[in-house]
Amino acid sequence: MEIIDLKGRKGLIVGIANEHSLAWSAARHFSNAGAELAITYLNDKAKPFVEPLAREAGNSLLLPCDVSRPGQLKTVFETIEREWGRLDFLLHSIAWARKEDLHGRLTDCSADGFAQSMLISCHSFIQMAKLAEPLMDKGGSLITLSFYGAEKVVDHYNVMGPVKAALEASVRYLAHEHGKKSIRVNAISAGAVATRAASGLQHFDELLNETRRRAPLRRTVEASEVGRTALILASDYMSAVTGETLYVDAGFHIQGMVFH
Ligand code: NAD
Repeated sequence: MEIIDLKGRKGLIVGIANEHSLAWSAARHFSNAGAELAITYLNDKAKPFVEPLAREAGNSLLLPCDVSRPGQLKTVFETIEREWGRLDFLLHSIAWARKEDLHGRLTDCSADGFAQSMLISCHSFIQMAKLAEPLMDKGGSLITLSFYGAEKVVDHYNVMGPVKAALEASVRYLAHEHGKKSIRVNAISAGAVATRAASGLQHFDELLNETRRRAPLRRTVEASEVGRTALILASDYMSAVTGETLYVDAGFHIQGMVFH
């Protein structure tokens, strides 16, 4: 049970790979709050990992969705329209870049690699906003996941820095465009959490250590703290918050120089 009640609300979750995914933590909180969920999995290889979690989340729709495959995202929304006729919130929790781009300098990133990363990690959110619009005629909440590397240089974040910066700017423009319909659009800028996506970043352990050393709370962030924030953003408790990037990072982003 949650203090927040989402009974009767319907939400789409894109980005569960396994039980460590930030999207899974959010899904658990949504489900505990009584929401009905549509959960997607990337492909047949991912399905066995996601299916048991979707079952645990209760009466959810389970649908394939690789946003880089033309038509798959549209099919997800068509199914939601057919099954539910509306949508109250969605969580976009996906990011991808080619290994060579993620591990190499931004300077060396190919046009193709940059475009592909933008398409999957940023434009897919814009696409979701478009597809959700007709299903949210009574308002709604669109939530995405970002990282501090959007704003300041974080060593080894490389191409994902500009991609997340574009995502955060898109949040503001989408919030502007959808505000009249009471559709709120926000990003959660999460602190470093060990997940599959995070394991693709070089020196990720150092980032965790640096967070423990520098963040005001002197610790890293739990996935559940990100999930709980998504729950509040999906609820009416955040009814006046839109276009925001909300930091859930133990305060890491406020620090300038720290001496110990
Ligand atoms: P994760 O690996 O559990 O989730 C990433 C998800 O992206 C996976 O479910 C994967 O299937 C999905 N994905 C990749 N390509 C896709 C495609 N073409 N179509 C559909 N889905 C696709 O890792 P995570 O850390 O939970 O990442 C979720 C989000 O959180 C990402 O946007 C990530 O950048 C962001 N984030 C993570 C951290 C962290 O430290 N873990 C910090 C800040 C922000």
